[in-house]
Amino acid sequence: MSQLQHTEAERLLEILAAVVSNHQMLTYATAAEALGRDPKNNSRMVAQCCDLLDAAAVLAGVPLLALFWVREKSGKINHKAWKDIEPDLREAVISLSQCHTFTSTDFAAIKQALNALIGRGNHKAWEWIRKQKADEDFWKLVSRQPSSLPEDDAIEDLGSDRPDSVPTLGKRYLRDPKVRAAVIERAQGRCEFCGKVGFICTDGTPYLECHHIIALANDGADRMTNVIALCPGDHREAHFGKRRNELEKEMIRVVAEKA
Ligand SMILES: [Zn+2]
Repeated sequence: MSQLQHTEAERLLEILAAVVSNHQMLTYATAAEALGRDPKNNSRMVAQCCDLLDAAAVLAGVPLLALFWVREKSGKINHKAWKDIEPDLREAVISLSQCHTFTSTDFAAIKQALNALIGRGNHKAWEWIRKQKADEDFWKLVSRQPSSLPEDDAIEDLGSDRPDSVPTLGKRYLRDPKVRAAVIERAQGRCEFCGKVGFICTDGTPYLECHHIIALANDGADRMTNVIALCPGDHREAHFGKRRNELEKEMIRVVAEKA
């Protein structure tokens, strides 16, 4: 039984790698279909595979992948997942996944961790991981903020004018991956400010960072008209440079011209 769950989880991981890089999402039903199974009576099996994949993600030190990218039919995150923890902490766990750009390195790390969990089904896997990690350490693992880049707007992005804030672990804003994807598409591989071409990432795409020109914390919108794709140098200057106020004005103009 746990062997079958492993095999399917490993296949689902590969499917997710493709889905996530195309900025798409799966539901339990479409995931079952992608695995060649009848979507009508396999959602439970898919949910268990997702749970096992997320256990592997924690073991690998990566935010929870399947929790965020495999959804209920309504498009909502599985309401049963992580339901018995504090709501704030649950939001933090979800937000961490939402704000994270999953790379091929993450997928490889999850796969390796999955191998370390062979012989354990999803429940046993979580039990085992909880035992390996002290409780506090465990919660840090699943809800810590990513330690990347200048504060909070380096990575992911929800299309809304008033993004919901997440009350724990400092303040994070929920961002729509579609906004980010659309801005990256608009940039065509170049920094939208200086025109420099980004270096090529392991997944073959040029490296760019999405910047909210007016920070979400200052009521900036999570819209394409407020997000610009930047090279790392310009991104840092936008945050820390003496000229940052001027840059803000110029960037607003640059993006307005693209609309
Ligand atoms: Zn630049």
